[in-house]
Amino acid sequence: MPELPEVEVTRRRLERELVGKRFTQVMLRVKKLRLPLPAELKEILPGLTLRAITRRGKYLLFDCGSGWLLVHLGMTGFLRLLRSSIPPGTHDHLDFLFDDGHLLRFHDPRKFGIVTWFTGDPLQQPLLSDIGPEPLTEAFNGGHLFDIARGRKVAVKQLIMNSAVVAGVGNIYANEALFRAGIRPDRIAGTLTLQECSQLVTSIRSVLEESIAAGDACRVAEESVTYYPQEYKAYGRGGKACCCCGGQLDEIRLGNRSTVFCRSCQN
Ligand SMILES: [Zn+2]
Repeated sequence: MPELPEVEVTRRRLERELVGKRFTQVMLRVKKLRLPLPAELKEILPGLTLRAITRRGKYLLFDCGSGWLLVHLGMTGFLRLLRSSIPPGTHDHLDFLFDDGHLLRFHDPRKFGIVTWFTGDPLQQPLLSDIGPEPLTEAFNGGHLFDIARGRKVAVKQLIMNSAVVAGVGNIYANEALFRAGIRPDRIAGTLTLQECSQLVTSIRSVLEESIAAGDACRVAEESVTYYPQEYKAYGRGGKACCCCGGQLDEIRLGNRSTVFCRSCQN
């Protein structure tokens, strides 16, 4: 599942290539993904210039002047940027063509993604209005996390994966950040000290920033890809050796998500 770094890397690539370009054509091949696709996009977008691409959590926001195209990659979605039109394959549900010949194609086997259209302030729309602070901004800090965690009986991993607490931290980076911070994923959130919350915020920020940097460094010539090779220290390594102490990493289910940690290095 694409997480915040993959969405941010996608945003940066698309921004470099597409901002300032004009939409010429929209092709919709399905009626709905997670939500119905607005058929009127075919009439609205041609002629509009893409002004900017921003991100809120895992949502991409395409500023088209008179409105906003909002895209969420869901579980399996990704955006391919092609320099020339090639015939669509299976699961290529939408195409956006631009005046310089670029083709932006939304591919999503499981159809849990979202593509929709808003006018007005997109941040006030129901899909976005309840999202918590962005993890890479100062609004997300140790004090904020500590205030939210106090009195909470939920596991800390589930707390940081709640998008109302902090935007865009999914399973991979929650595992990685907790490992880096030395905090067990199943710790009751309310038992965290302010210092631990600050450490966790620092760790969340650093794992996300490192992953974005890795994605930026991994240029693919012909198209934008959501996924790029990465090495994880905890995620996906249950039963393997901890890179810090050499002990065996434990794997448990937490909130029905695979959760890996080291009993020696994380408290
Ligand atoms: Zn260890």
